[in-house]
Amino acid sequence: MPNKGQDCDQQQKTPLMSVESAIAAMVKMALLPDQIEQRTLNDALGYVLAEDIQSRINVPPADNSAMDGYALRYADLIQADNHCLNISQRICAGHVGNTLEQGSAAQIFTGAAIPEGADTVIMQELCSRKGEQICLQKGQAAKITQGDNIRRAGEDIATNAIILKKGYSLRPQDLGLVASVGMATVPVYRRLKVAIFSTGDELCEPDTPLKSGQIYNSNRYTLTALLHSIGCEVIDLGNVEDNLEATKTAMLAATECADLLMTSGGVSVGEEDHIRVALEALGQLNLWRINVKPGKPLAFGHIGTTPFLGLPGNPVSVFVTFCILARPYLLKSQGKTQIQPRHFDIAADFSSVYSGSRAEYFRVRLRQNEAGEQVLQRYHHQGSGVLTSTTWAEGLAQIPAHTIVNKGDKLRFYPFTELLAH
Ligand code: AMP
Ligand code: MG
Repeated sequence: MPNKGQDCDQQQKTPLMSVESAIAAMVKMALLPDQIEQRTLNDALGYVLAEDIQSRINVPPADNSAMDGYALRYADLIQADNHCLNISQRICAGHVGNTLEQGSAAQIFTGAAIPEGADTVIMQELCSRKGEQICLQKGQAAKITQGDNIRRAGEDIATNAIILKKGYSLRPQDLGLVASVGMATVPVYRRLKVAIFSTGDELCEPDTPLKSGQIYNSNRYTLTALLHSIGCEVIDLGNVEDNLEATKTAMLAATECADLLMTSGGVSVGEEDHIRVALEALGQLNLWRINVKPGKPLAFGHIGTTPFLGLPGNPVSVFVTFCILARPYLLKSQGKTQIQPRHFDIAADFSSVYSGSRAEYFRVRLRQNEAGEQVLQRYHHQGSGVLTSTTWAEGLAQIPAHTIVNKGDKLRFYPFTELLAH
């Protein structure tokens, strides 16, 4: 039996678009950033590389010792009486030794360059020092192999190797890697400037007393933080009242100062929903109404050349549509190549849930069942206004349209660690 929602959908005469086609359509229209800047390493965390990074050197630049010990020729040590050799020099890290004298050993420290002629380092714990001689301890000779404890030039990075690819967002370890090849700056895309405004006459800002009929504006803060979490700069235009002129004015203001505009609320077909009408008056609507729950009324379009994304008003819908629909588009617009979040197939710990005609995203948590397996627990209240479900949860589980979920069925699990990062 069709539910009320389906009846309404038929009345709208606009077919609902699947999540996959909506993401694909938006990503196709995403424009790559056109401005590149050089940033110093300490100021580049989270930025997206605008060019491949190629190493001009070998890392390490020269063969060096992985241990404190003795550098020698393997054959000399094996052939020497009692495996004893004279110590002919001492080489500390940062200093260069001389060519190794035949039949001798060089005392060497971790990171010091291997002297010409040596082919093996014996760690000091395996040696006994007798005056100016070192002797390999009894029974150790069989355990030693030629080449031991030498870190080879270029074994980490060879000259001309690409160490990081364009379209990649920089993590702490990547910045260390760039420094290790001697570069002090990286070419990155400028941060995407996203203007946002919320809509709704019922909205009141935190830290002010609620009047009758009002609720606090939460979307403004969720949306700002979501954008920060994926590396965008936010221009907050505040809350806009529910009327067409105010909506149009705010939209035009956004096009003056931002690369992209995102809003929350007012995107449905009610008399007090002005977003879609304003968008169509000022620019064009490219897609609208997605087959997703929560979050059906989502509008994507352009005002002049400025992309526009109108998210729904319900707080959970804002969160879910951002993570699933807006995020890939925003990552692509930032120059990223890896734009889809990774997901993991995990068994549901709940049963007999019917998703209905729309793909649904449950707020879920991982838990270990009696058999020690990871399973997905869902929050007891999946309402689109129940923001506590998002703070309780550790991720979203996707239930395709027209699907009955039984306990043990594998579902796609998108952890927040994937969705709230870039
Ligand atoms: P709308 O799409 O504007 O009709 O909003 C749908 C629901 O979300 C309504 O119950 C609104 O009160 C609520 N809502 C809209 N915007 C916000 C907001 N910024 N913060 C919290 N709730 C909101
Ligand atoms: Mg509203």
